[in-house]
Amino acid sequence: MSEMPKILLLSCCAPCACAVIKKLHDDGVDFAVAFYNPNIHPEAEYIKRRDEQKRLCEQWNIQFVEFEYNPDVWFKQTLPYKDEPERGKRCDICFELRLKRVMQYAKENGFEAVASVLGVSRWKNLAQVNAAAARASAQVGVPYVEIEGRKHGMQEARLALIKELQLYNQDYCGCVYSEQQARLRKAQQAENK
Ligand code: SF4
Repeated sequence: MSEMPKILLLSCCAPCACAVIKKLHDDGVDFAVAFYNPNIHPEAEYIKRRDEQKRLCEQWNIQFVEFEYNPDVWFKQTLPYKDEPERGKRCDICFELRLKRVMQYAKENGFEAVASVLGVSRWKNLAQVNAAAARASAQVGVPYVEIEGRKHGMQEARLALIKELQLYNQDYCGCVYSEQQARLRKAQQAENK
């Protein structure tokens, strides 16, 4: 039996979440997966990532909670920071907004804590995610549990699961700005070849 509290895990996408979900499941933790990602653009991409996450949860018999898709709320808060690079101020707001919403749901639905996989990718600044989680936690009053997703073989496990389960793996974080920045990066790389 796990000593972990009942957790609501915010997932941004199946490829980031797969190894953490498997570990929690194998460890007998009582948890559900939350999908609140109004940052993802365009909607077709949101649907693709949501369906992939849902498929994984169904395959492993894990509760999946889909939230509303309300990009207007996300755009309103992040627009002043549209030109920020990834890991900048826009990401502070993006993380906090999503974590706060999931914490509110957790509070109203019998979960004891929230965790996330927002810092699993090597492109992310884990300290930035944890700071946003601490701000959200202080406002909503729900504890945030940091779950290891990078070290102790977790990255290797994640890459192996992506391959084994043939998970759809996107090449940008999620928002329209990160999509544009990724496209620009690719064009510059092609030009330098
Ligand atoms: S780059 Fe990713 S974390 Fe940052 S604002 Fe865009 S979607 Fe959110």
